[in-house]
Amino acid sequence: MSSAGQLCEITMARVRRRNWERLYPETLLYDDDRYVSVIKRDMTAIVFVAGMPVLLVCALAILFLPEAMQSCIGLPAKLLRLVLMVVTPIIAFVVVPLLFRGYIRRSLRRDLNAHGTPVCPVCGYALAVEGAERCSECGEPIRRRRS
Ligand SMILES: [Zn+2]
Repeated sequence: MSSAGQLCEITMARVRRRNWERLYPETLLYDDDRYVSVIKRDMTAIVFVAGMPVLLVCALAILFLPEAMQSCIGLPAKLLRLVLMVVTPIIAFVVVPLLFRGYIRRSLRRDLNAHGTPVCPVCGYALAVEGAERCSECGEPIRRRRS
């Protein structure tokens, strides 16, 4: 691979990583890219469980709504249909997963705890002391699984 290509790839990876960190601050606590598989797994479940129904409802709206709306707001049905067709995948694959951000963050916290990085399950604060009774950030009692 050319060095320009390599540089581009490294930059892209960095941008990707920074976006993950902004959306899911828990990823900062990972020392490898393992969180990608956790997020991917959750995202797939979310898209199937929540995104697909949204997609279905929007598909019905694309089929039936434009003609009904045309008489109300006076925009051509073709234009309305086009707008719905652009907006629908954005809602199903971007907005819906964003609504479930809290779910993914909790999932990352569970994963961190399961792999030896103690994290508060409520606020995501990294617990410095292993075996702490309460989170030093939010005061949440830390329940531990008995092994
Ligand atoms: Zn906490």
